[in-house]
Amino acid sequence: MHTPSPAIGSADPRTLYQAACDHARRTAVLASVESLLGWDEQTKLPTAAGAHRAEQVGAVAALVHASRTDRAQGERLERLAESELARTGTEEEQGSIRRLHRDYQKQVRLPARLVEETARVCIDGQQAWVVARRESDWSRMAPWLERIFALKREQAACQLPALDPYDSLLDDYEPGALSSDVAAVFDRLRPKIVELVQACTSSAIRPDDAVLRRQYPLAAQERFVREVASRIGFDFSRGRLDTSTHPFCSTAGPHDCRLTTRWDENFLPTSLFGVLHEAGHGLYEQGLPDGAYGLPGGEAASLGVHESQSRLWENLVGRSSEFWAWCFPLAREAFPDALSQSSAAEVQRALLTVRPSLIRVEADEVTYNLHIMMRFDLERSVIRGDLAVADLPEAWNARFERDFGIRPPSDAEGVLQDIHWSAGLIGYFPTYTMGNIFAAQLMAAAERSMPGLRNDLASGRFAGLLQWLRERVHSSGRLRDPQALVTAATGEAVSERWLLESLWHRYGPPHGLAR
Ligand code: ZN
Repeated sequence: MHTPSPAIGSADPRTLYQAACDHARRTAVLASVESLLGWDEQTKLPTAAGAHRAEQVGAVAALVHASRTDRAQGERLERLAESELARTGTEEEQGSIRRLHRDYQKQVRLPARLVEETARVCIDGQQAWVVARRESDWSRMAPWLERIFALKREQAACQLPALDPYDSLLDDYEPGALSSDVAAVFDRLRPKIVELVQACTSSAIRPDDAVLRRQYPLAAQERFVREVASRIGFDFSRGRLDTSTHPFCSTAGPHDCRLTTRWDENFLPTSLFGVLHEAGHGLYEQGLPDGAYGLPGGEAASLGVHESQSRLWENLVGRSSEFWAWCFPLAREAFPDALSQSSAAEVQRALLTVRPSLIRVEADEVTYNLHIMMRFDLERSVIRGDLAVADLPEAWNARFERDFGIRPPSDAEGVLQDIHWSAGLIGYFPTYTMGNIFAAQLMAAAERSMPGLRNDLASGRFAGLLQWLRERVHSSGRLRDPQALVTAATGEAVSERWLLESLWHRYGPPHGLAR
């Protein structure tokens, strides 16, 4: 038994609420230092400084963890959860209490031994993965994955014991989502995507992407992508763009959102779509209410909702004919040698090639979801004990052959290609396809409520769409569950239909398909 501290025991709910919010903000400030260290590591850190950086990250991570599991904060949240304020407060007060209390409970239910062991095993597991993938040697990875899946099962049972173990893990990335619902959506989506892929690949009419593979000088690319990011609304006075091996978006504070991309002189989409994607994440971060920084009202709703924002700008805007009607003159000015003889339509068609391939991160927009749905089914089966880790490579290859019509020639190009499982990120994959589903549904709703939207995009007026997203998605932070957020924003339950419609609408015509 534990007796509450006297100051907490006698305080009134509003005083407690204020103190709980102050504590949450301080924790967020500390966590933002950790995130800044991570950004620096991937963009600027001298190669010899890695060991000291690991110590810096470890020291700050320990402070963040101590703050997240602070006993006095726990007492405040317990009291608040049972107070009148949790039932009669404003939406923000009720939502903040519910979220902060739940986060706290999940954290403190994990034994310190489990947290430390998982962190250690995942660091070693990722190193093993680098070697295993390089040598395409499953036997080097298998023992690590056995341990990681076992630790994650234990974590699942501790943190949300009432839930199905996979749902407990999924909750870390997509609060409140149930894998049975996700599976039902994916099971309807998969055969229809397979059908579209087959229709595209068997058609005699196929887009040709040669125009994208000309020479695009890097200095001009950099000016061009910055201009595009700025025009869609990314605020460079509150953010930056740098270079990294893997593009990402990282937030170091309410007015400090950092994007990265990579460059390929002979393939324009690498930098452009890297920036459109990451700027989509950045617009979300920049649109969160800054007065609620560090509180649930000022934080992103989920990974799926985050991904919906990046995919919306990258694919639904960036691969549309309207976007290219506006963007092409800008591109031709930036790259006169590559584009003087081309047209907006030629570039836009080139961006819509469909080509089943082995590697997820190189996949086109249509086949991408097949990669994801397969990983979701496999990891869920392993967590539930329906599939042994030892059987993953065969299960992977058989499933890949069924969905894509090709069998991976090696494990490096199959089960070993992604870092996620070796890093303990189980329950993470489905959020990518959920993001695509949310994005298409949001875009369809935005078009319904703004009949002039397509014309605006074709004239480079993006502010209306951004404002719509700010109001319907960004402004509520994570006070609501993602499904409820998307349902309220669009006026209908989450459904795969808009994603399918949008894929057929954009990819059908350039492949000579009508529907
Ligand atoms: Zn993303």
